[in-house]
Amino acid sequence: MSRSEFGSAEIIDGKALAATIRAGLGVEIAGLRAAGRLQPGLAVVLAGEDPASRIYVRNKTAACAEVGIRTFDHRLAADVSETELLALIAALNQDPEVDGILVQLPLPPGIDARRVLLAVDPRKDVDGFHPQNLGKLLMGEPDLVACTPLGVMRLLEHAGTPLDGADAIVVGRSNIVGKPMAALLLSANATVTVAHSRTHDLPARVRQADVVIAAAGRPELIRGDWIKEGATVIDVGTNRTPAGKLLGDVAFAEAVGRARAITPVPGGVGPMTIAMLLSNTLLAARRRAAGAA
Ligand code: NAP
Repeated sequence: MSRSEFGSAEIIDGKALAATIRAGLGVEIAGLRAAGRLQPGLAVVLAGEDPASRIYVRNKTAACAEVGIRTFDHRLAADVSETELLALIAALNQDPEVDGILVQLPLPPGIDARRVLLAVDPRKDVDGFHPQNLGKLLMGEPDLVACTPLGVMRLLEHAGTPLDGADAIVVGRSNIVGKPMAALLLSANATVTVAHSRTHDLPARVRQADVVIAAAGRPELIRGDWIKEGATVIDVGTNRTPAGKLLGDVAFAEAVGRARAITPVPGGVGPMTIAMLLSNTLLAARRRAAGAA
């Protein structure tokens, strides 16, 4: 972490932490490969031409290559049918070289993303989106956990943020970020408020929180004077302005003077999400290898 030029908060450097995690995974995977044990493999399914999705997939594929995870690219046309996509998932579920299956969202219109994600073998669900994996998390028995909330937990740990008994607020209740995030914080004994678009007086609720996780997808929704002095602020939001600038859900320049620690956008949560995808792929590969032995 580094001191901010704006104020007193520590800036939590997700890029650096993710690089450290990737380096560790690289060493671990090299060891497993040298011992002839296993080489993890990730199938990456991209349907359509969404430019942001193409960039995400490119970054994820490059990160896999860096740590020694094989990737199997499946690029599908925007007019792919749900039946074809489900047939591909079924084949990947059976493929012994594939440990993890990543279906890049959003899927093209006309395809029921829920049905596709449900078709992924939960043991290969390295994004942690399958209801079985979300259910296990809620039961306090985490298995493959959604990458972004998992990355947030690592950032909180890195920042030395106490969670036991802390008041935490998660702004956003999506199945892929807000809900698993709340479950992880609850498992760490925080007292968790989950806010959403119908929440009354969001500023007052945020003001009470020792830990603020912003995942609403609304640029600079959370203002600096909402932040309790000394809180830890993790900004999951990635909002592209018409001018192409990336903004978080937190007004960073305002919040940095009040928080104890805060993540920047970019360079906070984003790199951690990819690092956790790699980590989950290795976990799935290890489990499969252990199961096959
Ligand atoms: P989402 O599915 O659109 O969910 C947004 C959530 O925020 C919803 O629960 C919504 O409430 C709530 N919300 C919207 N406006 C609000 C407001 N004014 N006040 C309070 N709550 C509000 O989004 P998501 O997939 O969870 O993603 C959230 C953000 O994180 C996006 O910016 C996304 O790009 C970013 N993200 C970043 C990463 C990364 O790796 N950095 C990964 C995933 C997502 P309702 O439920 O009532 O509609």
